[in-house]
Amino acid sequence: MEEKLRNLATEAKEAVEKAATLNELSNLRVKYLGKKGHLTSILRGMGSLSAEERPRVGALANEIRSQLEVLIAGRTHELKEAEREERMARETIDVTLPGKPFLIGKKHPLTKVQEEIESIFLGMGFNIAEGPEVELDYYNFEALNLPKDHPARDMQDTFFINPEVLLRTHTSPVQVRTMEKTVPNLPVKIICPGKVYRRDDDATHSPMFTQVEGLAVDKRITFSDLKGVLAVFARQMFGADTKTRFRPSYFPFTEPSAEVDISCVMCKGAGCRVCSYTGWLEILGCGMVHPRVLEMSGYNPEEVTGFAFGMGVERIAMLKYGIDDLRLFYDNDLRFLAQF
Ligand SMILES: [Zn+2]
Repeated sequence: MEEKLRNLATEAKEAVEKAATLNELSNLRVKYLGKKGHLTSILRGMGSLSAEERPRVGALANEIRSQLEVLIAGRTHELKEAEREERMARETIDVTLPGKPFLIGKKHPLTKVQEEIESIFLGMGFNIAEGPEVELDYYNFEALNLPKDHPARDMQDTFFINPEVLLRTHTSPVQVRTMEKTVPNLPVKIICPGKVYRRDDDATHSPMFTQVEGLAVDKRITFSDLKGVLAVFARQMFGADTKTRFRPSYFPFTEPSAEVDISCVMCKGAGCRVCSYTGWLEILGCGMVHPRVLEMSGYNPEEVTGFAFGMGVERIAMLKYGIDDLRLFYDNDLRFLAQF
């Protein structure tokens, strides 16, 4: 029996050393050491051995098993190494190949212009205020001196959720909400950027657009404060040599009201196609806050005054970048957007 074991050991060792693949090795393990393998079947005959022989044969069998285990493990390692080296020789990495470009997005031109407007007014001491886009009729119209039957409502036809709830047509309701919260503290000095909605759709109007409105309320605020603030804004936004012009206008929530023009950004006032040969471009509407609006927001118009203004971010961006169709901002065409 001992001889059988020794022969088995020799045979198995040779086979393991010759094994050329990992698969072959795994088969050899099953063949010699497995539950139904050669070693196990020899040991089944142990019952016929004498009591002195049994421990010796058992010890020998264990020794052979562990020797074979070590051999198989060693050969497995060798084969794996060889395979790895072979693959390294076959596959080469060209470190001079150019890398894959990493695409980084950028800000939408409207976002850039809105942030630029915000930073100019923040620099003049204004704070940013925000409010809901789905608004009550009261804040959007009535509290701004536009009662239910007011004809000026026609200029701001919008999308109604129900007779009392609508998509805001301007960010002015944020001004009313802010004044309500601030009363009786002074001063109020805010700008309200955000999306607004109207029933318009053509090359210069979109059913959704972006506005920035401003409001200042304090004791002794005058029209010259308004002119100064807007002149500074125009110069910072369009260049130091930009002139401003105020023309009388009408808004229900301001009195007096004005439209503001800047000297044409293209021809510097000489007259060109963009400015219809007038030398001027309209950029925003403004005025002194109507006493009734102050009153409805809880201020005493005998004690405080204020000014307000509102501009379309799209309009400012179109003038700044010379864009002739407002719908380009919303088409999501990367050829257009990548230019900014
Ligand atoms: Zn011009």
